Amino acid sequence: MVQGFTVWLTGLSGAGKSTIANRLEQELIARGRSVEILDGDIVRTHLSKGLGFSKEDRDTNILRIAFVCSLLTRHGAAVISAAISPYAEARAQARAQIGAFVEVYVQCPIEELTRRDVKGLYEKALRGELANFTGVSDPYEAPVDPDVTVNTDTETLEESVAKILAVLESRGYIGQAAGAVA
Ligand code: ADP
Repeated sequence: MVQGFTVWLTGLSGAGKSTIANRLEQELIARGRSVEILDGDIVRTHLSKGLGFSKEDRDTNILRIAFVCSLLTRHGAAVISAAISPYAEARAQARAQIGAFVEVYVQCPIEELTRRDVKGLYEKALRGELANFTGVSDPYEAPVDPDVTVNTDTETLEESVAKILAVLESRGYIGQAAGAVA
């Protein structure tokens, strides 16, 4: 069986986690991999339905995602988690549970996120109308030693994905694909 692994994307809302996950999925499929994305917004509509945004609920959400990632990884899948995952301790627990784990810090300055405001939430949060909004009115503990950092304000999507693929190759999780972005 091929070696499974989890790419764990962490970063603020609108930083580019879902966009990168979808592009990375295409690249991994091109390499013949079976891919599963656990997208934070989607997970919250079923696996974590009913959970809120307290620290306790956020940690529960992340540990549920990590549990599913660990099962899929064990069976050879290429798994991508795309959830904010603001707390370092919960990410460390995910790493410990999953094993083959690549932490990707999807970095983007708050000024750029406010400009993008993909879901219209930053403006609300900055006006003080949205409690528990990560990066504005709720904590985000940036990774201190991520396996990869992508800077989505200065890199193209292709560049960000290529950086992740390069690390997956260097770890031996994937082979090189002819004609791929890396
Ligand atoms: P998240 O999943 O982190 O909430 P999204 O992927 O939904 O963020 O939104 C990110 C936005 O930033 C998209 O509109 C995307 O087109 C844009 N973007 C600009 N540059 C990049 C990049 N290098 N990587 C990913 N997204 C980017």
